[in-house]
Amino acid sequence: MKGIRGHHLFCMALFTGHGYSPAFTENMSATIQALQSGEPLRLTSGPDALCAACPHLLPEGGCAHGTADVARRDQAARQALTVSPGDTLTWQELRAHLLSLDEASFQAVCGGCRWAAEGLCSWALLQKQLV
Ligand code: SF4
Repeated sequence: MKGIRGHHLFCMALFTGHGYSPAFTENMSATIQALQSGEPLRLTSGPDALCAACPHLLPEGGCAHGTADVARRDQAARQALTVSPGDTLTWQELRAHLLSLDEASFQAVCGGCRWAAEGLCSWALLQKQLV
């Protein structure tokens, strides 16, 4: 069972091999592969299985990219996908939730993110990844 925070449900679906470090990218790939192979995930409200290999995870559990910003995105993601901390999901269930989204809900979670600003994430990419 992988612990995954809200906004990372979107990051995983949009992942195309880019990350904060080689270790982060390797862990992201392995986590997605495990979930796609049938291991379920449990929603967390803080640092998760992906943060564990991230160079930006702060010792007290915050995020060097903005603890409040990532918490806001987590909350927006849970609201968009109608899930709560502690819920368990399979990859197929996550995919179904993401397919039911409209673009405004996507932007509420991902709008203004550095990866989107760099052209590495978008609503169009999400639709492509979910096919
Ligand atoms: S520590 Fe911050 S930047 Fe790193 S994976 Fe977690 S939320 Fe993302």
